[in-house]
Amino acid sequence: MASYYNEDTILYLNGEFVKASEAKIDLFGQSLHYGYAVFEGIRSYRTVSGETKIFKEVEHFERLKKSAEALNIPYPYFAQELIDATYEVLKRNNLQNAYIRPLVFLPANMSFIQSTESFITIQAWEMGKFLGDKLLKIMTSSFERPNPKAFKMEAKASGHYVNSIMASQDAKAKGYDEALLNDVNGFVAEAPGANMFYEKDGKLFTPALGNILPGITRATVIEICHELDIPVEEKFFTVDEVKQNADAAFFCGTAAEVIGWESLDDVKLKKDWNETVSKVIQDAYKARVMEKEFKAALV
Ligand code: PMP
Repeated sequence: MASYYNEDTILYLNGEFVKASEAKIDLFGQSLHYGYAVFEGIRSYRTVSGETKIFKEVEHFERLKKSAEALNIPYPYFAQELIDATYEVLKRNNLQNAYIRPLVFLPANMSFIQSTESFITIQAWEMGKFLGDKLLKIMTSSFERPNPKAFKMEAKASGHYVNSIMASQDAKAKGYDEALLNDVNGFVAEAPGANMFYEKDGKLFTPALGNILPGITRATVIEICHELDIPVEEKFFTVDEVKQNADAAFFCGTAAEVIGWESLDDVKLKKDWNETVSKVIQDAYKARVMEKEFKAALV
């Protein structure tokens, strides 16, 4: 297991900065027992100027608020207050390239009734590359993403991640790097912790919203496509369509960044990654988080 904290680590807890090793939670909490909590996954980078910058911090804290509201979790926090607290956590832990994890959780309550108060913690730890730079071997999972009529799939809710953990562990046990999950209608949805795109004849396709987490990286990729005049379409498609059509494909997420596929169910993607528009997107994304100027080379 990775080491997330040590004796000196400081985290943010309900308005205070406290030692991680001394912070306590209630073992009778509704969040711990039922997975009823919401969280975010954010990254900070040491940019080209040497400064520490949190990438898309407003978007992440706005999504945290929306997630809490979708689940009837009290959210008496302001984005700017939490952004300031996050920079303070980074400073106190001497972190620049970090993964940041805000979590809104609930007090002791074994019933299903709504809580009138919530707690918030913001934790951070050093992060290099998440899935690595090598291309991934992907397996279509037998696990589907949850039915959006059973869960608020647009919310980043802790309990949803039991599904992610099952699918990811299953793919790894079978010798693959990561799983690809379908939605309840049999269309491609997303990875356990990332969104997906595929490329065909220089155009990108990504699953439409509805059954997936609306990723901030997904939105950034679409933004980059518009800026670079790369056609992009959100639509529903099947795994078979990806296998038949895709020149390239990738996962994208805050932690994963943009990471290409080598194969899907042992079917190799058609093009060399380095000759794809997807690779241009990967480079553009890396430049963007580092606040580096990016000039696209023609593919
Ligand atoms: N889907 C799921 C299920 C995720 O957990 C994540 C990671 N937060 C994503 C997509 C990508 O979202 P983002 O780009 O906002 O990190």
